[in-house]
Amino acid sequence: MDLVLFGPPGAGKGTQAERLVEKLDVPQISTGDLMRAERKSGSDLGKKFDEYMSAGKLVPDELVLELMKKRLSQSDAQKGAIFDGFPRTQPQAEALDALLSEMGRKIAKVVVIEVPVEDIVERITGRRVDPKTGQTYHVRYNPPPSGVEVEQRKDDTEEVVRTRFEGYKKKTEPVLPYYEKKGLVARVDGVGSLDEVTKRIETALGL
Ligand code: AMP
Repeated sequence: MDLVLFGPPGAGKGTQAERLVEKLDVPQISTGDLMRAERKSGSDLGKKFDEYMSAGKLVPDELVLELMKKRLSQSDAQKGAIFDGFPRTQPQAEALDALLSEMGRKIAKVVVIEVPVEDIVERITGRRVDPKTGQTYHVRYNPPPSGVEVEQRKDDTEEVVRTRFEGYKKKTEPVLPYYEKKGLVARVDGVGSLDEVTKRIETALGL
């Protein structure tokens, strides 16, 4: 099954994707995670990603698509995937359809996790990550266990979050009608406990 998790930054796409991985037995593909890994490696490509990510700007489509092509060619991604934070622009959406079609696949559903803008800043600025495992926590809603050392993502500051949200409104949200026309969109209320939101997504997917 190929599934897109859609929604503003801080909607909980990554956390919910992790929860769906076991149930659907397909990998989570997060372009943000792939870019952070590349950045950590110190490569030239990683440095390029960093320029955009640190400013809260979208990375150019050509670079994102190159990354996605590579990821989809890996053996664990041959039966389906949960796309998290991708596509984020119309050209990315169209390119994803083309890539999947070459593999004889197509998107089964686009789940939009809806969270009001007021909640987003609080969610993102409270977000912490365990750099060793990549596991995400929130200082209030999902605190890390004692002894686990966490850090804040560089782009999780209030100023950058506002730029990221604007980018979502301007470039990403307008992709939705493309999927609506295909009848693929399911909207889910993203406010509530992690379990509640997971339940709503599972219901939307008929799981
Ligand atoms: P995320 O982890 O999904 O919040 O992404 C973090 C940052 O990585 C974004 O603010 C962008 O700078 C970049 N990024 C991740 N995915 C994409 C994408 N599909 N297209 C463009 N930029 C992306």
